[in-house]
Amino acid sequence: MNSKLTYEKFLPLENFGHSLRTPAYLFRPRDAEDILTAFKLARENGLTVTARGAGRSYNDAAINGGGIVLDLQQMNRILAWDPTCGLITVEPGVTICQLWQTTLPDGWWPPVVSGTMTTTLGGCLGANIHGKNNFRMGTIGEHVTEFTALLPSGAEVTCSPKKNGDLFRAMIGGFGMLGIFTSITLQMKRVYSGLLNVRAWGVPDLKTHLAEIEAAAPEHNYTVGWLDATASGRSLGRGQLHTADYLAEGEDPAAAQTLRVEYQTLPDKFFGVVPKSLLPLLMKPFMNNLGVWGVNTAKYLLGARQKTYRQSHAAFHFLLDYIPHWEIAYGRGGLIQYQSFLPKETALEAWTEMLTLSQKRGIPSYLGVTKRHRPDNFLLSHAVDGFSLALDFKVTDSNRTRLARMLSEFDEIVLQAGGRFYFAKNSETSAETARRFLGEETLNRFRALKKRCDPHFVLESDLYRRIFGEQQ
Ligand SMILES: Cc1cc2nc3c(=O)[nH]c(=O)nc-3n(C[C@H](O)[C@H](O)[C@H](O)COP(=O)(O)OP(=O)(O)OC[C@H]3O[C@@H](n4cnc5c(N)ncnc54)[C@H](O)[C@@H]3O)c2cc1C
Repeated sequence: MNSKLTYEKFLPLENFGHSLRTPAYLFRPRDAEDILTAFKLARENGLTVTARGAGRSYNDAAINGGGIVLDLQQMNRILAWDPTCGLITVEPGVTICQLWQTTLPDGWWPPVVSGTMTTTLGGCLGANIHGKNNFRMGTIGEHVTEFTALLPSGAEVTCSPKKNGDLFRAMIGGFGMLGIFTSITLQMKRVYSGLLNVRAWGVPDLKTHLAEIEAAAPEHNYTVGWLDATASGRSLGRGQLHTADYLAEGEDPAAAQTLRVEYQTLPDKFFGVVPKSLLPLLMKPFMNNLGVWGVNTAKYLLGARQKTYRQSHAAFHFLLDYIPHWEIAYGRGGLIQYQSFLPKETALEAWTEMLTLSQKRGIPSYLGVTKRHRPDNFLLSHAVDGFSLALDFKVTDSNRTRLARMLSEFDEIVLQAGGRFYFAKNSETSAETARRFLGEETLNRFRALKKRCDPHFVLESDLYRRIFGEQQ
């Protein structure tokens, strides 16, 4: 074996929410040659290979029970950066954090970011992530001008919207099932300040919540909602909305300072005194139905009145990074996220039914987040002309089976309402559910590309086997 390629035998690997754990041979490639060595080893030993970025997927997208997992975080070099036009080329292990820290001082921000800056560009392309501006900017894949990827055959392909366009639209959002990105070129977005103009206000129920996101979206660069999934009756779906807008050129007199990395960096103490590392422990006693109801009610009442303020890009986008390892507060069983994407015509009825059902079953979600979306033309797309609702659920030994059953019921409600699912989030989407929302034609196109890129089924993950395993 190549001596450069380090690996640790059979390490247990987890999803982001610590609700799944499977052992795999973990490799840490440093370059394309190392990836080829891993492919060779897999072929010789009859093993499958899964690419892994930062492992921030909520489900089984980056784990591979009994197989090889390639942790690509060491392939993290910025290969080229041109501040005159905002084009950047990176290795797949570069994180969103590294990306904005490189480009913001020159006045450029990533066009699309996830709610955490710890994700890698390889993982973000693998999932084709969306941000709080999906309705306006689409997914990250819409800003990729070119990528190179290695196929299990050892061939390297270069893809852009025009060159190998079918592969471009399938590998982005393809969850590493067709090839492994080795370099990614992205068009960044020009900004003239390190600040955003933010407006926050409360919404009393689901109907108002969705109507106001829809009305706000065309007027703003970003919009996102927090939904209190513990509120019931006339308050069902209440929450708080945020919109944010870039500042125009010249609007920020201190732009030279606010664009600096130090200005953006999130504080490491809460209220200036409590080390943030202690927060998950302090949150733990509240992570039960009654505790979350109390915290959410206080949050809703305090946030009901409209506020406007300026906030740094990092503070607005990466709110969840304020509390590192917040997921630990969910306890031993961890958490899972259920995100559904619904057309704007059916969202209100479907989510009313789902939120009511979760409360009736005594398994309310502890965090709900809403966004406005637009469709895109990637092959395994999760987007719709409508909204998404992401719901976080605590998993315990006593609710595990009931929760899985309830989420299967949710799947049926979403399918009946013409909705879609996201393979970076949901843990229970079945092969049949995927067939129903993606359609047979899309699946056939995916199968044909799989045959072309990976005829011996080397690239597989637990997610791949769950969704596509039966269809080989
Ligand atoms: C707190 C939090 C907030 C989030 N917010 C959002 C959000 O706002 N919007 C959103 O869309 N998602 C969001 N996510 C989900 C997250 O952005 C995606 O799961 C993303 O894929 C994670 O990136 P990663 O580097 O951790 O990739 P991993 O989870 O390690 O991998 C994700 C997928 O990409 C594949 N992959 C990884 N590297 C490569 C490569 N080099 N080549 C080919 N395939 C590869 C993997 O095989 C896997 O299928 C959030 C997750 C968390 C934990």
